[in-house]
Amino acid sequence: MVQCYECGTVYPETMRCCPNCGSEAKIQLAPNSEFEEPKNPYVQPYRPYGMPMNNRMNGYAVAGFVLSCVALVLMCVFPPLSILGIVFSTLGLSQIKKSFQRGKGLAVAGLTIGMITTVFSIFLYAMVFIESLW
Ligand SMILES: [Zn+2]
Repeated sequence: MVQCYECGTVYPETMRCCPNCGSEAKIQLAPNSEFEEPKNPYVQPYRPYGMPMNNRMNGYAVAGFVLSCVALVLMCVFPPLSILGIVFSTLGLSQIKKSFQRGKGLAVAGLTIGMITTVFSIFLYAMVFIESLW
């Protein structure tokens, strides 16, 4: 950017003269002057959709899916496992959103299986409890 010597207007170097007064007298401004766009450290670099930077599978997503599957098998033996599966899957999902990691499908599957298993085990325990009342 350059600044007009006559009127002080700031305009790009590509222009031959000042757009305000037409004067060719100009002052070269420092590259990192106040007129440059401020860099926002919180803005993440653009990543095209479907092309994740980080190709690693999210660990929480895998753990959540595995826990939910194990919980599905061991439903009657150890129900809290499905709750752990939900917790890990949710953690995985939130991490994938931020880090663009792989494993979103796994996390969603783990979350779904975990929830179904939890509901089912609650239902099972309720049945056992009702039956014990008779
Ligand atoms: Zn000027």
